[in-house]
Amino acid sequence: ALTIGIVGLPNVGKSTMFNALTKNQVLAANYPFATIEPNVGVVELPDARLNRLAEIFGSERILPATVSFVDIAGIVRGASEGEGLGNQFLANIREADAICQVIRGFTDADVVHVDGKVSPADDIDTINTELILADLQTLEKATPRIEKEVKRKTTEPEVLAAMQKAQEILEGGDTLYTAMQKDGFDAEPLRELQLMTTKPFLYVFNVDDDVLADEDAKAKMRELVAPVDAIFLDAKFESELAELEPEEAAEMLGMSSQDESGLDQLARIGFETLGLQTYLTAGPKETRAWTIHKGDTAPEAAGVIHTDFQKGFIKAEIVSFEDLDTAGSMAEARAAGKVRMEGKDYVMQDGDVVEFRFAV
Ligand code: GDP
Repeated sequence: ALTIGIVGLPNVGKSTMFNALTKNQVLAANYPFATIEPNVGVVELPDARLNRLAEIFGSERILPATVSFVDIAGIVRGASEGEGLGNQFLANIREADAICQVIRGFTDADVVHVDGKVSPADDIDTINTELILADLQTLEKATPRIEKEVKRKTTEPEVLAAMQKAQEILEGGDTLYTAMQKDGFDAEPLRELQLMTTKPFLYVFNVDDDVLADEDAKAKMRELVAPVDAIFLDAKFESELAELEPEEAAEMLGMSSQDESGLDQLARIGFETLGLQTYLTAGPKETRAWTIHKGDTAPEAAGVIHTDFQKGFIKAEIVSFEDLDTAGSMAEARAAGKVRMEGKDYVMQDGDVVEFRFAV
């Protein structure tokens, strides 16, 4: 499953946000066979198309795509040198598909800040420095081995060149992901080294309600992390929202300055950050969204449902959601010539409504 690791300094609101994520109990109802782990919070990717499809097909239930969040404790100043829980966090981060850094933007005299003052810029610097130092250590350790391998021609020289470039970027204080976004740094040759800061990254500013409505204040914080994505939410508010029934939550959200809950934003932006998209299947039993990468072909998409679907792939019957929505039924969409048969080279588009034909 798709997993985003949550990091941040102590007392910035990680647990509060995490509670909101785990209270989101829709999952238990929709996925009766899913194992629910205590340190994993799951959010459904909001997708209005699913309701419309369920209506067209008379589906009994709707299964949206989901994003999992896992709490990664232990990053404090000096963690890469063994402070606190030490660099135990490294292993946890390696397992995540992306990293989400929570930053304190709220002011509350009763909640102490580990460094004595609320300063988003300093907090980001503290956390990123630990990640950067850990990557520099990894590079340093790997260098003699890679140099030997290049001499023996078992590794391409471009790997060494990319390592040197990565070291310069990190020593300059940027994460490799920032360099990828800003200057198109190519981290592909470094894949084997599993450097942490090459992972997709996003920032969550945990702010007071008045800041959520303050575009200038948000723009200033956005600037701190640009071109990497930032999300603004009020973790306390989110945890209150998560305890309500969907109708009540919608009403409470309507009275706030936001039009989408922070957790929904988190799922949506997390999805985009990871370069993912969904395709849809629908029938009388269920309407369901399936998660694939942008650029995946039809057989790869089939493989997400079952590996046999990929192996035995013959073709896919596809109609775009928009065309099906306009037509109002599969029969009408067919009559209008909107339903296509696609082969194994077809590149999936977001919102494709699909039925796979396969041989077992
Ligand atoms: P963690 O150490 O990062 O997991 O932080 P916690 O979630 O435990 O939060 C630390 C303290 O800050 C708790 O007392 C929370 O109630 C409080 N807190 C968290 N988010 C907010 C917020 O958005 N506004 C305010 N005023 N307090 C918050």
